[in-house]
Amino acid sequence: MSSPLDSSAPAFADLGLASPLLRAIQDAGYTTPTPIQAQAIPLVLAGGDLLAAAQTGTGKTAGFVLPILHRLMDKPLVPKPGRPRCLILVPTRELAAQVEESVQTYGKHFPLVSMVMFGGVNINPQYKALRGRLDILVATPGRLLDHVGQKTVDLSGVEILVLDEADRMLDMGFIRDIRKVITLIPKQRQTLLFSATFSEEIRTLANTLLNNPGTVEVARRNTASELVEQSVHLVPQAHKKEFLAHLIRHHNWQQVLVFTRTKHGANKLAEKLLKDKIPAAAIHGNKSQAARTRALAQFKDSTLQVLVATDIAARGIDIDQLPQVVNFELPNVPEDYVHRIGRTGRAGSVGAAVSLVDNEEMGYLKDIERLIKRSITRVVVEGFVMPEAAAHHAGMDDDERPPRPAGGRGGRSGQPNRGGHKNHADTPRKPAGQSGKPARSQGAGPAPSRHSTRPSAALLGSGGPKKGRD
Ligand code: AMP
Repeated sequence: MSSPLDSSAPAFADLGLASPLLRAIQDAGYTTPTPIQAQAIPLVLAGGDLLAAAQTGTGKTAGFVLPILHRLMDKPLVPKPGRPRCLILVPTRELAAQVEESVQTYGKHFPLVSMVMFGGVNINPQYKALRGRLDILVATPGRLLDHVGQKTVDLSGVEILVLDEADRMLDMGFIRDIRKVITLIPKQRQTLLFSATFSEEIRTLANTLLNNPGTVEVARRNTASELVEQSVHLVPQAHKKEFLAHLIRHHNWQQVLVFTRTKHGANKLAEKLLKDKIPAAAIHGNKSQAARTRALAQFKDSTLQVLVATDIAARGIDIDQLPQVVNFELPNVPEDYVHRIGRTGRAGSVGAAVSLVDNEEMGYLKDIERLIKRSITRVVVEGFVMPEAAAHHAGMDDDERPPRPAGGRGGRSGQPNRGGHKNHADTPRKPAGQSGKPARSQGAGPAPSRHSTRPSAALLGSGGPKKGRD
C-alpha cells in the first residue's frame, strides 16, 4: 500500500472542490489529500459511479463526503420533508454516527441538513427529524427499512447512493435489505461502493448496482497495513488475561483496543482488568447502545484505558492515531485480522498490533501469515514468566520461552518487572507507539441527531455526536 500521505499528491485546491469545502478541510487540519481522496474526489465530482477498494483509515469517508456535498450544493433543490437526496448505507451504528459526523465537519459552511438513523435507540426522535428538511441520510439498513415500512422516509428523491464497507454489510447479512432499498430509489442516480475486500458476492453486487464505474484502489487486496507494527506473543489461553494486564502495565499503554472472539470473553476480560485496577469496558452486540456509546466516548477521551470489543462491535471505530491493538485471540477468519489491525496506524501514523497466541491457534496464525504474505515477529516480554508446562502448551520452542530469572530463582516473584522486549526476529521492535495525544472527541450519540451542517449548535441534538475532526 502506498503511504496515505503521498508527497506527489495534488493539493486539495486542485481537486475542484468549492471554497466552503476547502475552508472546512483547512479547519480540520488536513494539508494533503490521501491517495483515495486524490483519486475519488474528481471522479465523484464528474458524476460517475465509483467502485473503490479502500480500507477504513485511508481517508475514504472524506473521499466521498466532500464531492457529495459539492454536488448537492451545485444543484440546490427545494427540499421536501423526509426525502433525502443522498443515502449513505453503512453496516454499524458506530460507523453511521462517524460518517454523519464527517458530513457535519466537512459541510459546516453549507446549509445542508443531515441525519443519522440506526436501530437500538428510541425511534421517536427519528420520526420528528424526518418531518423536516433532509438532504443527506446516513443509515444502517435495518432501521432504514423500519422507516420505509412506516412510510416515514421517502427514498424516491435519492440522487446519490453510497454503500460504505459493503463487504461488512454482506458479512452481517444485510444483502436482502440492501436489495430491497435499491428497489425503492431511482434507477437514475450516482452510486458509490466502498469495500475493503472483493469477494464474488461483492463483485456481483457491484455489477448489478454500478453503471460503468470508475475504479479506485488504494490498498492491495487483503494487504495488512504496512504502517502497523505486528508481533505475536505465544501465551497459553489460561494465562492470557494475566499476561495482558502485565503488558499494559509494562508498556504503560494508555489507549488499547483489545479484540476477543466472543461477547462472553469480552466481558470476562474487562472484569479481570478492572479487578487489576486497569480501567476497562467491553462493547459488543449484547450491550445497550447507551453503554456502547458511553464506553466509546470514555475510550476516546482517554478516561478508559482499555476497550475490549468483538469484531462486529469494533467495526467502524475510528480514532485518530489509535496506538495499540491487541488480539486477545486470533480471529478464525484471516481477513478479520486485517480489519482488526486496520484500527491502528491510520492515515500516516504508526501503530502496533500485538497478538496473544495459544498453541491451539497456531493454524490461524499460519493462515494469517499466508494472507498477509509475511511472518509476524514472535516477541518475548521479560518480566512475565510462565510455568514450564504452560510454555510447552503454548507451542514455544526453547528459544521462544521467556528467560528464567537470573540467579536460579524460579517463579515470577524473583523476576524484576522491568525488562523490555526480547525480539527473536531480525527486525528490531520499537516500543509501541504512544501518541500521548488525547483521542479526538467524537462519538455515536445515544439518540440520532438532526442538525444543519451549518455550525449552529442549536440544531445539534444534545445527545448527538460531538464535533471533532472528520
Ligand atoms: P477514514 O478512512 O475515512 O475512516 O479516515 C481515517 C482518518 O483519517 C479520519 O479520522 C480522518 O480524520 C483522517 N483523515 C482523512 N483525510 C485526511 C487527510 N487528507 N489528511 C489527514 N488526515 C485525514
